[in-house]
Amino acid sequence: MLIVMKQGATKEKIDGIIKMAEKRGYMARPIPGGDRVSIGILYNKGSVDAGHFLGLAGVKEVIPVTKPYKLVSREVQQDNTIVKIGDAVFGNGSLPVIAGPCAIESEDQALAIAKAVKKAGAQLFRGGAFKPRTSPYSFQGLGRQGLEILAKVRKETGLPVVTEIMDIEHFDMVEEYADLAQIGTRNMQNFSLLKRAGKSSIPVMLKRGMSATLEEWLMAAEYIMEEGNEQVILCERGVRTFVRHSRNTLDLSVILAVKKESHLPVIVDPSHAAGVRDQVMPLAFASSAVGADGLMIEVHHKPEEALSDGAQSLYPVQFELLMEKVNKIHDLTCAAAGEKS
Ligand code: PEP
Ligand code: MN
Repeated sequence: MLIVMKQGATKEKIDGIIKMAEKRGYMARPIPGGDRVSIGILYNKGSVDAGHFLGLAGVKEVIPVTKPYKLVSREVQQDNTIVKIGDAVFGNGSLPVIAGPCAIESEDQALAIAKAVKKAGAQLFRGGAFKPRTSPYSFQGLGRQGLEILAKVRKETGLPVVTEIMDIEHFDMVEEYADLAQIGTRNMQNFSLLKRAGKSSIPVMLKRGMSATLEEWLMAAEYIMEEGNEQVILCERGVRTFVRHSRNTLDLSVILAVKKESHLPVIVDPSHAAGVRDQVMPLAFASSAVGADGLMIEVHHKPEEALSDGAQSLYPVQFELLMEKVNKIHDLTCAAAGEKS
């Protein structure tokens, strides 16, 4: 349930309502909105009697929340959540692009790719230091050395960096280096990792589990928000289906559904959806056309030598072309949306 306070309700009034809710055994959380504060009632067993709160000083209205997720829900927060990292803004209608290799392999490799993607207009650099590989015999990432390389890339290029966290025990270490923490598809329902991410001071990018429903994905984001971290970006990266013509199937309609259900920004990673290079650019265009809040693209200067995901990594020159074209599509998408309203 959501208790919407009147415009200009004082802190005392808000605290009073929270105390009253807590006395009744609920957990209440203030949610600042555009021009007024709401109070979300969490942890209620069964329905909450709106009558307890209606008519109290400062209360404008009481709205039932019909969804199992609360903090991530648009019912609870109507305004988009905005996540700012460096110059990139996720959730304000712009199209920031994260780019880089699947894995950090060496300083030379990371710097060469980072310089190329920056030149093409990428706003964040990505690269895995801890890699979730299907086979234990595949390259597992450079670990801390990879993080140190990321820090060097940031220093030399000024690009903020994104990297995946697979284990709770690495969280402190990754937080020292990364500007955005990625939780990958395989860990979307690793609840202890999600709770730790919720305590983090850096924003979190939560990828959709490879067979997760929209509800499961949003509930996973709820775990992070419930612990206090409101800076969450969702990332659609394709789901597993019966098809063989791509690694996964990019679920573009989920972008529309997420935007309806949640205020969190949602970006698209067409690289892991496609699995093959030639599908990445068209899928990036389509993602922009449906209103994605950003893109994440794998790029490698020598993809044939890449230690992971070479087949789906774009050459820098292809990435440059992608950036040029996707920005035109983004402008058209914005113009079309403007015409509609
Ligand atoms: C990645 O981004 O390199 C990655 C492993 O992604 P996913 O978790 O979507 O497979
Ligand atoms: Mn990858």
